[in-house]
Order: sequence, then structure tokens, then C-alpha cells
Amino acid sequence: MFRNFKLVPNVIFGRGCFAQLDEIVEKQRDNKDSWVVFVMDDVFKDKDLENKLPLHEKDMLLRVNVDDEPKTEYVDELTLKVREHSSSLPCTVIGIGGGSTMDLAKSISLMLTNQGSSTLYQGWDLIKNPAICHMAVPTLSGTGAEVSRTAVLTGPEKKLGLNSDFTVFDQVILDPELTKGVPKEQHFYTGMDCYIHCIESLEGTFLNEFSRSYGEKSLDLCRQVFLDDHPDSADKLMMASFFGGMSIAYSQVGACHALSYGLSYVLGTHHGIGCCIVFDYLEEFYSKGVKEFRIMMEKCNIELPRDLVKNLKEEQIETMITVALGLEPLWENCLGKDWKNIMTRDRARALFLKM
Ligand code: NAD
Ligand code: ZN
Repeated sequence: MFRNFKLVPNVIFGRGCFAQLDEIVEKQRDNKDSWVVFVMDDVFKDKDLENKLPLHEKDMLLRVNVDDEPKTEYVDELTLKVREHSSSLPCTVIGIGGGSTMDLAKSISLMLTNQGSSTLYQGWDLIKNPAICHMAVPTLSGTGAEVSRTAVLTGPEKKLGLNSDFTVFDQVILDPELTKGVPKEQHFYTGMDCYIHCIESLEGTFLNEFSRSYGEKSLDLCRQVFLDDHPDSADKLMMASFFGGMSIAYSQVGACHALSYGLSYVLGTHHGIGCCIVFDYLEEFYSKGVKEFRIMMEKCNIELPRDLVKNLKEEQIETMITVALGLEPLWENCLGKDWKNIMTRDRARALFLKM
């Protein structure tokens, strides 16, 4: 069976294109009571970007906090706030921020039309009803959340996305100018998330020409950004993120993402930095990629945290291993069908203990 892959139908790209948001959203406002929710990362509170939001009288500005990555409980709370704003549903939900905010916006748009808690829908194709029209305005490049069919959520029992065709954004607004205030470390970590998506996709056993085409271009753009100091690096990283997302959508990520999920489940480590911490110890799987990653790290003057695992309690380490090895497709992509004989619990433990 071949996957029938849902794409984002509308994309606008270019410096300053954010100014067209009002015009784009206008098409969704089909009656005088139509209203829009702007789900905005609270890092922009009272900043220039917030002042430029094209808010109409009935619209809702929902500032969200992403100090912790999205949790199901937070999604449920935010969805309730949106419901309480009006007796009718909004016509559009717009996520403005990095991967966390985009995932919150995706989740809210899905949970407004699907009953119960978001925990019920963590998994593949569990969503029953189409979402409210939802749009993304990324302000940080790398995750590929703007093109993916998932919204990653941590629940009480698992860290697993709302994976469905309904999750895919209806419109993406790619304005590289919006990424200009990102702190240096965050720029590196989220940028490396993209770089690692490419390496894991291109080195994986699930690779096909669709994924290779996007992955190679994305990798080339990452190199221009992190090795060559290109003057248009914001534009390049934004496209790298988009293409990297396209690449993994039709293949899969690998060992680094599997292990980083274990790390983040137990320690709350954020996605980008978690992937960087893990990738540095994966030379045995991705030899060339890890060497190049270290050169980029040195060039960007990044020091990674060390010794995070060895002082943890035994049960925490066990949970970390269980979460990481539970991500079967990621391991199969990295190591092939026989992966269970290669990546044993002991080997996963030895890797974690280095971190
Ligand atoms: P993020 O959204 O968590 O943001 C990281 C930090 O950068 C936050 O403090 C945020 O406030 C700040 N920030 C964002 N834009 C800024 C700007 N323009 N100026 C200043 N600060 C800014 O980071 P991320 O790495 O983009 O996203 C990580 C999240 O994405 C994780 O929750 C991860 O699970 C998720 N993710 C989702 C997918 C997917 O396909 N849905 C893929 C990969 C990762
Ligand atoms: Zn990632």
C-alpha cells in the first residue's frame, strides 16, 4: 500500500508577506458574526508583531505559553477558553510562533470539532471530524510542524501526536522576517532539528525518491545557513524546515528522535536541544552527519549540557528506554526490520548513560 499524502494546499512565502494575513483570512469570514482566534506565543506580548495582528472586533487573541512543550491538559484548557469566547465556533484558528505554538493551534482547531479530551486522539487517524480552518505563521524555523500531519502532545500516559489528515494546516504564511528575534541558541537547536530530520530521512531504510528530493535540498540549505553564514539565512532556513518536513512526511525520522523522546518524556527536555544532546552520541549510526553537526556546533559557539542521565534513578532510566524503544517505526527506519536484535535495552541504556 502506498500512502496518499495530504499536502498543505496554500502557501505564501516572502519577506513582509505577513502583511497579507488580513486579506487571506478575510476569505474565511463568511458572515458578520465570523470570528478568528489568533493563537500567539506569549513571547510576542506587547511586541511589534502583536500590534500588527489584523484583529477584528469579535476576534480572540489567545496568548499561549510554551515554556513547557504542549501538553494535552493545556490543549483542553485552551480549547475551553475558545469555546467560552462565543456561542458560535470560530471560522479560523491561526498559530503564530514556533513548533509548540503551531502544534497548539493545530490541536485547538481539531478539538473544537471533536468531543472529549485531546488524550483520546493521541495516535494515528483517531480524529473523527474535520478541524476548523487552521493556518500557521512560523516565527522559528526547523521543526517542519508547518507541513506535518501531526501535533505533538505530551499526555499523562504518552508523548504522542494527534496524527491525521485533518491535522494538516489549510494555509501557511512563511515570512522569514518574523524569525529575526530568535535567540542564538534556540536558532541553532531548532535549526538542527531540521538538519537531523534530513540526516535521519536520507540515511534511513524507508527512503524513497520523494523523500530524497526534499531531504537533499533541505540539507543543502542547512549547510548554507550553518556553515557558510549566508546573508539570506532566514529565508533559507525557513525553506529548509518546510522541505525537511516534506522529506520525513514520506519517510520517517530515526534513532536520534526515538532516544530524544525518551529524554524529553522523563526530563522535560525540549525537542530541539534534546535532539542535539542525543545526536552528538550517535556517530555509530550517522557518522558523517554527526561529524558535520559538531563543526556547525563549534562555528555557532554552542555548548551542550552534559551528564543528564547518569545520576537519575534506575526507574527513570528504565522509563526512558521503554519510551525510546516504543517508537518502532523510527528504529525500523534507522536499523531495518531486524532492529530489535540490534537495539537491545542494554545498548539503549549504554547510549543514554553517555548523555
Ligand atoms: P518552540 O515553539 O518550543 O519555541 C522555543 C522558544 O523560542 C520559546 O521560548 C519561544 O517563545 C521562542 N520563540 C519562538 N519564536 C520566537 C521569535 N521569533 N523570537 C524570539 N523567541 C521566539 O520551539 P520549536 O523548536 O520551534 O518547537 C518545538 C516543538 O515543536 C516541540 O513541542 C516539538 O514536539 C514540536 N515539534 C512538532 C513537530 C510536528 O511535526 N508537529 C515536529 C517537530 C517538533
Ligand atoms: Zn524533530
